[in-house]
Amino acid sequence: MNTPVYLDNQATTRVDRRVIDAMIPLMDEVYGNASSTQHEFGWRAEAAVAQARRRVSALVGALPEEVIFTGGATESINLALKGAARGDRARRNRIITAGTEHRAVHDTCTRLEAEGFEVIRVPVDRYGMVDPDDVRRAITPGTILVSIMAANNEIGTIAPLEALGALCSERGVLFHSDATQAVGKIPIDMHAMHIDLLSFSAHKMYGPKGVGALAVRAGRPPIRLIPLLDGGGHEKGIRSGTLNVPGIAGFGVAAEIAAAVMPGESRRLSGLRDSLVEGVNEALEGVRLNGHPTLRLPHNANILFPGANADAVMMAMKDIAISAGSACSSASAEPSHVLRAIGLTPQETLCSLRFGLGRFTTEEEIAYTIGRVNETVRKISRKINQKTNQKTEMRRANAAPAH
Ligand SMILES: *Cc1c(COP(=O)(O)O)cnc(C)c1O
Repeated sequence: MNTPVYLDNQATTRVDRRVIDAMIPLMDEVYGNASSTQHEFGWRAEAAVAQARRRVSALVGALPEEVIFTGGATESINLALKGAARGDRARRNRIITAGTEHRAVHDTCTRLEAEGFEVIRVPVDRYGMVDPDDVRRAITPGTILVSIMAANNEIGTIAPLEALGALCSERGVLFHSDATQAVGKIPIDMHAMHIDLLSFSAHKMYGPKGVGALAVRAGRPPIRLIPLLDGGGHEKGIRSGTLNVPGIAGFGVAAEIAAAVMPGESRRLSGLRDSLVEGVNEALEGVRLNGHPTLRLPHNANILFPGANADAVMMAMKDIAISAGSACSSASAEPSHVLRAIGLTPQETLCSLRFGLGRFTTEEEIAYTIGRVNETVRKISRKINQKTNQKTEMRRANAAPAH
């Protein structure tokens, strides 16, 4: 077994070897521009993109022509939200989202708020679950769209997508879902779930970084998106820029693999995840699983270790790569907005760690992790207890009357 053990698969994943193998020829032999329609180099690149489009669309129940390739989920989300909102500005101005979204959605909504749109953030329950009735009540005739993530990147809670989609379509409101953590891990069918706009990314599912997709439902009523990028008119004029052919082809292979292995992989990873949670729960006092007990991603565990500061645990355990909160928000020392939204105290959010298992996680690594976590958390909470005891003693000594 090699250390450090990688358990940060919600931040990014290792690229599958089969994906790398498929990408290499698209850099050194088939290096044409997919838009060059006059020669063999262009045709072969275009064929690779078309094949990837079929594979990626199939994974989410979309038609190939509904997929727009982008530079990642952040871009897809910006295109979906800004594109739809700015396209509808003359008629409507409300956007509904939740308080536990990834910053790509949260900050895009804040930007739109500054442009004059009204953003309603519905609350979540203590598991991070959105109540479709709250969304229903927030919808007005002036509502453009609802954006709710498919699965949370910190706590893994899976949203009631079908119910949300059905109510949006009933009310004539667009439904966007940031499905970056869900696609390739749990079944997503954008048509069955009434999702109009679906954002996702290759690097969260064993594909390369810097490539993603926005699936835009075809059919009536048509969805009008104002592009973020103007230029050569690629991707039906919605996303100009020379296509990242190797990245897109890699995304396609990653999608095909994910579809094939999903049931077995999710069973294996949820088994390992459960053994990790049980392993620390048996050994340590007061451990709690953050997020929904059952409606959660198979490979995620976000665990609260009362009295053990997460940063201190990570510093003392450099042989295990995990994260506190999300990778993006842990750069700022702010307590996680997701953990705050599900009712944790600021202190509790600072004592929570995210374990993200993945395709390459082994049983041996999980056994090792259980041992290291138990040992480290015990040591750190003992230190804290000693400090508290010292403080109490000092206070007692100070309070003691002088003889
Ligand atoms: C990683 C992530 C994103 C951002 O995806 P990029 O492809 O890195 O831009 C957005 N939303 C969620 C839920 C994510 O986990």
